[in-house]
Amino acid sequence: MPGTNLTREEARTRADLLHVDAYDIELDLGSAREGGTFRSTTVVRFTATTPGAATFIDLVAPSVEEIVLNGERLDNACFADSRIALADLAAENELRVVAECAYTNTGEGLHRFVDPVDGETYLYTQFEVPDARRVFANFEQPDLKAAFTFTVTAPADWTVVSNSPTPEPRGEGDSRVWRFEPTGRISSYITALIAGPYVGVFDAYENGEQKVPLGIYCRPSLREFLDAEAIFEVTKQGFDYFQEKFDFPYPFPKYDQLFVPEFNAGAMENAGAVTIRDQYVFRSKVTDAAYEARAATILHELAHMWFGNLVTMEWWNDLWLNESFATYAEAVCQAEAPGSRWPNSWTTFANQMKTWAYRQDQLPSTHPIMAEINDLEDVQVNFDGITYAKGASVLKQLVAYVGQDAFFEGVRAYFKRHAWGNTRLGDLLGALEEASGRDLKAWSAAWLETAGINVLRPALTLNTDGTIESFAVLQDAPALPAGAKGEAVLRPHRIAVGLYELNDGALVRTDRIELDVDGPRTEVPELVGRHRPAVILLNDDDLSYAKVRLDEDSLAVVTENLGGFPDALPRALCWASAWDMTRDGELAARDYLTLALSGLPRESDIGVVQSVQRQVKQALDGYADPAWREEGLARWAGAAEQALRAAEPGSDHQLSWARALAAVARTDGQLGLLAGLLDGSAAIPGLAVDTELRWTLLGRLAATGRADGAAIDAELARDNTAAGQEHAASCRAARPTAEAKAEAWASVVESDTLTNYVQAAVIGGFQQADQRELLAPYAEKYFAAVKAVWETRSHEISQQIIVGLYPGLLVEQGTLDATDAWLAGADPAPALRRQVVESRAGVERALKAQAVDRAAGAR
Ligand SMILES: [Zn+2]
Repeated sequence: MPGTNLTREEARTRADLLHVDAYDIELDLGSAREGGTFRSTTVVRFTATTPGAATFIDLVAPSVEEIVLNGERLDNACFADSRIALADLAAENELRVVAECAYTNTGEGLHRFVDPVDGETYLYTQFEVPDARRVFANFEQPDLKAAFTFTVTAPADWTVVSNSPTPEPRGEGDSRVWRFEPTGRISSYITALIAGPYVGVFDAYENGEQKVPLGIYCRPSLREFLDAEAIFEVTKQGFDYFQEKFDFPYPFPKYDQLFVPEFNAGAMENAGAVTIRDQYVFRSKVTDAAYEARAATILHELAHMWFGNLVTMEWWNDLWLNESFATYAEAVCQAEAPGSRWPNSWTTFANQMKTWAYRQDQLPSTHPIMAEINDLEDVQVNFDGITYAKGASVLKQLVAYVGQDAFFEGVRAYFKRHAWGNTRLGDLLGALEEASGRDLKAWSAAWLETAGINVLRPALTLNTDGTIESFAVLQDAPALPAGAKGEAVLRPHRIAVGLYELNDGALVRTDRIELDVDGPRTEVPELVGRHRPAVILLNDDDLSYAKVRLDEDSLAVVTENLGGFPDALPRALCWASAWDMTRDGELAARDYLTLALSGLPRESDIGVVQSVQRQVKQALDGYADPAWREEGLARWAGAAEQALRAAEPGSDHQLSWARALAAVARTDGQLGLLAGLLDGSAAIPGLAVDTELRWTLLGRLAATGRADGAAIDAELARDNTAAGQEHAASCRAARPTAEAKAEAWASVVESDTLTNYVQAAVIGGFQQADQRELLAPYAEKYFAAVKAVWETRSHEISQQIIVGLYPGLLVEQGTLDATDAWLAGADPAPALRRQVVESRAGVERALKAQAVDRAAGAR
């Protein structure tokens, strides 16, 4: 995407030159119902350290009407390449820019959405990383903070929300004008505007003298499903917890949370006006894992109000710190806040965050947590598992290293010292060093400046009487994948070793030894001479960030008795280890299936259950020997049906098994059951076949040729909502015919009219593991099209296509060869190359795992 980039050097130069005082931004949204463009008028006042110097302001807009710098009208030709060139600055400057900016349907900039239920138009902004410039001219970099004053003209019956409290609108007739108070000094990427006939529910957070107005908004068509009380409850727990831990009052005048349509991410931490994907307003039954995930998101964004919004990274290379801190904060708050419904959050952290981090850290694109972010394109592909999940894991470990009290003491000093300012990593580490008295340079070098993941393995020998003769923890630093920067290193780890005995099927912890692991081999003398326990679990309690292996005997016990750990966390660690071994080709896919079938019936943590269900499907689709795959899928489908029928009526487990069955159903009996549930001729006691589950069932029936276009249309008639339209698009793309595939492909690749959500749905439906033959011709088409897609589509839209349509289901050498040929010939931009190389790594890994599974079949 040439012309919209900004380099770190340019940003640094501009920050040295400018101090921005204030923006006055007028947006006329009178055109919102028609779409197209809207009038944006920006007046920005700023000073320059070097009068006479030149700079530029950012703007992405179809056209500029007027540019006036210090009273002098500039030629509109100063606007080129998404920038307005500004020459001959004065010491004090006033710039006025009038532009026609465009509504988008990609979730970037000012997103415009029409709800099919009421025909009304709903707008919201999404600006991170550099998209405020799609709505108003601004110096788009986080360290040029300013006060922002928004004035918005919109239809009279609309709700208009921004960072400052919503004022009483003025005017008469069909439209009104909302003039908001100026914000505090904040970065452009956390400014926000949400406008449309949204409906709100209100409350307040009160603490002594302090009273913070709270609002929750959604579209009227979702209002009946909005459980505002539960959301307010989590929000208030977060206010209590963070204010106490940070010793800094919530810094903004109010706190609104807005559930908005077609949102690309989970949520966005706009100052005092958080936007959240509106799938988090649950219109059908979901499991408790979804409520937990929503609460985590709420707390994550709330933590950003301090860490990120009050104190902001200077440049995007510290994005990881911003996101890791918020991710750590969401988990620690859930674990510790009084009244929290999810005190087991570290299990979820191990199950999800760590798994994500481990996967990302083994891709060719892996990088040190402290990433070099040279320009905006670098950062846009860096919202990854290193930035969020590995960073948060390492932060958790840092807390263990300096102690939680010292950690929060350092954080408190950091907020007080840098409030409303910008910082670098060193500023936080400095505050933590002061608070803890520890030197963090070595820690930072080992953990933040290197890439890759260590593997910890037990090495034990036994005496003839069965007691332990020697026990050591071996540390490995597997070579980084080809193409990754840096070298694999050994690191210092603080870990616990758990010893478990098997009693009547229960794995009971009988001892726990905590130690520092350093270097390739660390002896554990405490274990010598002791009776060998049934299971020896390294990194018990999940203190460090490392892949862990079980010794052969422990693995055998765990394979039979994984459900026997009474605590969720060791189970989650063993599940993670088994999955990791499967991905690494150390455990055959068929053996992973066996382990899952034995462990799942006793797994009570619904989040873990759902992860394992997904992973089993992924193992069978990708990692199983193709000659055996169908047998494995049949076994899994049979087990899913049995578990569905056996599950407690109305339970989360029951719902999860219904979904697992719908993902894999293959026999006439299984597909007949799905069809029967859908048309009401079959029932599972307690299973509510509600709107979302209906679409899940129909999706499988469509993919297997048992539901045609008419059936999809009929379902859409029942649920003619935005979500229904997305599901219908997915079902159509899933049909097992060449025509359906061609239609889906054309709508995504050869046309650019789909919204971000419909496009994602079509891509999801298109890729069906059971349809490899139908999909095979699209590998060639993919490589022919992908570069043009990158060059002509927005970041979000192109990423969906590049990653989503990569022929990753074709696990064969030909896919690798075709990828390599394209990489060699296409000369892709680094960010495009990264996405393709990551996708290729998935195929390479699957090929190796298939060979392992084939060998297991022959044994
Ligand atoms: Zn975040």
